[in-house]
Amino acid sequence: MTMLSEGRPSQPVSGTQDHYPATLSGSRGLLQREDLIFEIGSNRETGVDLPQPRGRSDRLGGVTRSRPVELPGLSEPQAVRHYVRLSQRNYAIDLGLFPLGSCTMKHNPRLNEKLARLPGFANIHPLQPQSSVQGALQLIDELASWLKTLTGLPAVAMSPKAGAHGELCGMLAIREALKARGELSTRRRVLVPASAHGTNPATAIQCGFVVDEIKADARGRVDMDALREKLRIRDDIAGIMLTNPNTCGLFETDIRTIADLIHEAGGYFYCDGANFNAIVGRVRPGDLGVDAMHINLHKTFSTPHGGGGPGSGPTVLSEALAPFAPVPEVVRDPDGNYRLVENAVDECAQSFGRMTAFHGQMGMFVRALAYMLSHGADGLRQAAEDAVLNANYIQARLKQVMTPAFDGYCMHEALFSDAFMADGIGTIDLAKALIDEGYHPMTMYFPLVVHGAMLIEPTETESKQELDRFCDSVLLVARRAAAGDASLRQAPLLAPLHRLDETQAARKPQLKWSPPAPNAIAAE
Ligand SMILES: *Cc1c(COP(=O)(O)O)cnc(C)c1O
Repeated sequence: MTMLSEGRPSQPVSGTQDHYPATLSGSRGLLQREDLIFEIGSNRETGVDLPQPRGRSDRLGGVTRSRPVELPGLSEPQAVRHYVRLSQRNYAIDLGLFPLGSCTMKHNPRLNEKLARLPGFANIHPLQPQSSVQGALQLIDELASWLKTLTGLPAVAMSPKAGAHGELCGMLAIREALKARGELSTRRRVLVPASAHGTNPATAIQCGFVVDEIKADARGRVDMDALREKLRIRDDIAGIMLTNPNTCGLFETDIRTIADLIHEAGGYFYCDGANFNAIVGRVRPGDLGVDAMHINLHKTFSTPHGGGGPGSGPTVLSEALAPFAPVPEVVRDPDGNYRLVENAVDECAQSFGRMTAFHGQMGMFVRALAYMLSHGADGLRQAAEDAVLNANYIQARLKQVMTPAFDGYCMHEALFSDAFMADGIGTIDLAKALIDEGYHPMTMYFPLVVHGAMLIEPTETESKQELDRFCDSVLLVARRAAAGDASLRQAPLLAPLHRLDETQAARKPQLKWSPPAPNAIAAE
């Protein structure tokens, strides 16, 4: 096989393990081969004809670019084909089930999209006078009131732009509250369970706290003895960051006791709300003693998700933390008008400051409220119940072959360990073989507390037919893994590229294209 300078195959890959014959063009079926944009275009060409500018004078004070900008020039059809061909190589929620655990990859109803495109929402600008965007402010206020009602907490910061950003918001509010108590310099320790999402410890550290890990018990929940031990010294406790249901897909049954212990120690309870989808409409985090929790609108409330954005992570806050919420805040005045408080003044005098340039992800707000209003309170509860039902259906079917990580029913996601696999076969091999079966792999090797973890979250929007199709494929591959079928280690065989060196790709990403050396081209 020949390689380009980036280590990418430059010829169609074929071989004895390959189920495809080689093709001259490198295309397969009606899927076109596609090269890098730098390989199909050149900076000596341009896709548009512009007349030579006449009478041009240099108005840049002598700093005009002296070398070509090194961007490939393509015509419109070339550019369109390039990106459409690349898009056909993507897997998407609109193509099939996306079993990624903890990510809640559910269908985004098209109604939400339609409403988000209404000109009154889509074409406004955050710097317009507030009097001209009263409807948008009302929408933010209504969404805020749904979020407060569903969580049973009195305040919400709308501006955080993702779950991790919401964590930052909640922990900054906790920091500010400790500061107001004059205890910030002593209360530095944040407890984080071993199964936590990586963003939890990262956020705590970013806010200047020290992370103290609590182990899980044999039931996959916080080990209460270990927690009590950690709280024997209590005057340095800032709080706890806990996910519920946790990332093992299990409800933390001791959550009320945990909240009480943390509060008695003088700390605050941050709940990672990424898994709210499992309990929305059934449980109000405020009743569980939570002080701050982000809500991933792009998970629980179905707004588009993936590819890095856009997300939205409004963060609900308890009475104790509400005064420290970030600005801006939408306030409804007695005359019915809405007003944005932009600075730490008036009702926001104790705010810790501002997290974003403007007011948050307006487009996501419209979609999330449309989702809530079209479901209603009973529909949201039904969605949570169906999500849990679907995950348990998957758990029940797959445990015929695979090893559940913990006994009993799960919440919204089913977690398996690699114990059922034969020696020499690992979680990665099963995951890669699922690609050949047409499925995006599940979350793997997370949470860290389970060996070779496979975490599957189907969400409520999958039909029984689709769940069965998926389970059939997983069971087929799992049986091969249990039998020690070594060919799994070659998977995926049917994908455009086969097994890649993901460690190298993550550790040493090559983000810059450089032209192949002339002799490398000659060698091909
Ligand atoms: C998704 C997720 C996060 C982070 O949310 P982002 O919106 O991706 O920043 C945090 N914790 C858990 C448990 C998650 O699943």
